[in-house]
Amino acid sequence: MKAKKFAELVAQGAVQGKRVFIRADLNVPLAENGSVADDTRIRASLPAIRMALEGGAAAVLVTSHLGRPKEGEPQAKDSLAPVAARMAELLGRPVRLVTDWVDGQFTTAPGEVVLLENCRVNVGEKKNNPELAQRIAKLADIFVHDAFGTAHRAEATTYGVFEYAPIACAGPLLVQEVEAIEKVVANPPRPLIAIVAGSKVSTKLTVLQNLAEKVDTLIVGGGILNTFLMAAGKPVGKSLVEPDLVGEAKAVQEKMAARGADVPLPEDVVVASEFRADAPATVKPTDAVAADEMILDVGPQFAERIAQTIEACTGAVVWNGPLGVFEFDAFAKGTERLARAIAACPGFTLAGGGDTIAAIEKFGIADQVDYISTGGGAFLEMLEGKVLPAIEILAKRAED
Ligand code: ADP
Ligand code: MG
Repeated sequence: MKAKKFAELVAQGAVQGKRVFIRADLNVPLAENGSVADDTRIRASLPAIRMALEGGAAAVLVTSHLGRPKEGEPQAKDSLAPVAARMAELLGRPVRLVTDWVDGQFTTAPGEVVLLENCRVNVGEKKNNPELAQRIAKLADIFVHDAFGTAHRAEATTYGVFEYAPIACAGPLLVQEVEAIEKVVANPPRPLIAIVAGSKVSTKLTVLQNLAEKVDTLIVGGGILNTFLMAAGKPVGKSLVEPDLVGEAKAVQEKMAARGADVPLPEDVVVASEFRADAPATVKPTDAVAADEMILDVGPQFAERIAQTIEACTGAVVWNGPLGVFEFDAFAKGTERLARAIAACPGFTLAGGGDTIAAIEKFGIADQVDYISTGGGAFLEMLEGKVLPAIEILAKRAED
């Protein structure tokens, strides 16, 4: 990563007495009563804040988006107030929430941490309005990009501010995420196995195409598998499938085959006649799926076969997407077997994706995965081989 790193500035003593602005990703789910339902992203943002405090920052200004507010229309439901409360508990010091902050009409006490209200309420944020970015870039001496979850978007606080900031650098979470994902996509240890599963080929086509050029084994699952099965001429009944993308699935298969790499297809699957948690689940040979059945999971023989490949992998494994409808216990076994194999894998293991993280939680293997990305879209875009806007601007600013 070519960016200037905040940790290095701290180590050089360059943060002492400076005002530090941190763009974090504090977009957390809220419970019915408005409290923070899951504080993972707040916890993940603490190292940058602590680093600023330990570096002797004069003040630490933190902002984030939350939800999808309308610009120029602040509403109570979009307030970062619950985030400020939780952050204060976790940091063990007060965190004051500041509204109407763009023009710096607020004061800070020495060493104070303030949370600047939802940045997506500012007019011009989404479209990266240069004037807004320039105004914000006057608020501090050092600007830290630590919002990996929004690093794939070029908005005023995720991009524009870093063009105009006196000093622009990457925060510890951003660095950690990018380095973990680059380890797998740029110069991976071998063998490299990717699991790309979940609901649709259409949402992950670029990921499949990019990984097909790199991985030794590409395991497809979920609705994505159904489209690959259709491409291989197998019956899929009334499964979730995208007939329009059969050609693309074939192209991915061929690209892999041309490299001598493999896309293993299952010998057995789990089917049901209805999409319901209590629908009777039947294990069948893949060739025997009937017209009125839908494939809701991979079968036990296939799950065991791929699990053994993963358990023997000393290179790296990247996982995005559940192999079946894991939310229903009767169709969760394939994903569970995969999760256990990833937990046991001797190589480097990397996982990301909203439902993938839910599956990791469900099967309790979080501690045994080497790296779990906090970014959904940003994680997928890196797997697609794209350079994230955040990385592009920070690399450019590192040459100043
Ligand atoms: P992620 O959020 O990890 O990127 P996706 O959103 O692509 O994953 O896919 C997850 C969803 O795919 C889950 O809700 C799961 O129930 C669904 N799914 C998995 N397998 C199937 C299948 N065979 N048929 C229908 N839906 C499936
Ligand atoms: Mg999802």
